[in-house]
Amino acid sequence: MAPSRTLSIIKPDATRRNLTGAINAVLEESGLRIVAQKRLRLTREQAEVFYAVHRARPFFKDLVAFMTSGPVVVQVLEGEDAVERNRAIMGATDPAKAAPETIRARFAESIEANSVHGSDSPENAASEISFFFTPAEIVG
Ligand code: ATP
Ligand code: MG
Repeated sequence: MAPSRTLSIIKPDATRRNLTGAINAVLEESGLRIVAQKRLRLTREQAEVFYAVHRARPFFKDLVAFMTSGPVVVQVLEGEDAVERNRAIMGATDPAKAAPETIRARFAESIEANSVHGSDSPENAASEISFFFTPAEIVG
């Protein structure tokens, strides 16, 4: 099967605790390749658009505040079944329910400050990748 791609975000709780390299090591050890990466601070508008699917949820305002509270590292991961594989490595949204050894079980602080984002379908991966990266910025 051809390799596919997914969008990953190392969230502000993780960059604040200097965990970018530790999380990247877990991703790379799983066989995923980081084929694009940049550190930036999301604007409120960017965070609202990125998480627009959750606009009606009670946690939306807090989520936008959290995602804009510090730097994030946005990255494109490439590998076999990249979306599914990254979701498996991330673990459940709530770190208390995440399987042992997953990124969220190891590093997340709470259901909100859960260290990483990963696209949840190939379709969403494509739109999320183009939200942050031009084709020339992705070097496989
Ligand atoms: P992500 O989209 O960030 O990869 P996910 O797909 O596991 O996470 P979603 O249901 O899409 O989870 O929720 C998006 C984000 O919103 C979560 O990662 C978390 O930061 C926050 N969130 C989700 N549920 C809650 C909640 N009940 N309370 C507070 N924050 C939440
Ligand atoms: Mg999600």
